[in-house]
Amino acid sequence: MSPLKKILFCVAFGVLVTLVGLEAMVHALHENVDWPFWIFAVVSPAAVTATISIVLVRQIEANGQLAAQLLDMQTDLLIRADRDALTGVINRAAFYRDAAAYSDEAPACVLLADIDHFKAINDEHGHAAGDEALKLVASTLQAALRPDDLLGRVGGEEFAMLLCGLPFGLGMTIAERARGAIDALDFRSPEGEPIALSISVGVAPYRAGWSLDNALAQADAAMYGAKRSGRNRVHAAA
Ligand code: GH3
Ligand code: MG
Ligand code: MG
Repeated sequence: MSPLKKILFCVAFGVLVTLVGLEAMVHALHENVDWPFWIFAVVSPAAVTATISIVLVRQIEANGQLAAQLLDMQTDLLIRADRDALTGVINRAAFYRDAAAYSDEAPACVLLADIDHFKAINDEHGHAAGDEALKLVASTLQAALRPDDLLGRVGGEEFAMLLCGLPFGLGMTIAERARGAIDALDFRSPEGEPIALSISVGVAPYRAGWSLDNALAQADAAMYGAKRSGRNRVHAAA
């Protein structure tokens, strides 16, 4: 009901109750009531109920808007609680929660990607350049995945991915594509100096019902194998 209709309804109700009451008194007392009293019986409750209902309806409208704002803020906070503030991808806790809930029949893969020699980027070009590199790596990885896949920042310069419904061989292909995309980036310092960016990636198979910790530990071991073999490469879990 619109605010105006609510106010009109209240006014009509107030007037009706007063008129019925007055009519009942006329019948009970067998007294005639002159027309000014009838007019008063209409105008007085109309004025009182109109004033009160305007105040109340305004209050109800304001409360409704406040409740909607609170709901929006709550939704926003829930989304933010799951996100890494710097890169915008989901954080470690959200990644573990969502990846552990994977329930498809089809096999999946987990990937762990770690930026190579990242400390040197911070040391040589400053922390702000390091932050920019993190954002660029995150967006490049995201672009290499499909919308239903998961990408999370699970450590300082470490990202985990869940490739849903992908057999291991195809997972390796996607990992290689992501590595190549990072390697091909033309990233520069604020002074315009080129900064080499690369990632080492470990890939492990994963299925619904399997231990996510175990699959990530396998991917982690494979990723360290890639580091030991010279970095900027993809290794499969043994
Ligand atoms: P490796 O190739 O073996 O992985 O070497 P690395 O230098 O990448 O690894 P290391 O663990 O030595 O250094 C990681 C660095 O990441 C150290 C830390 O200061 C930096 N780091 C972690 N989180 C952030 C961040 O949010 N912003 C920036 N700029 N740096 C970060
Ligand atoms: Mg690391
Ligand atoms: Mg690193």
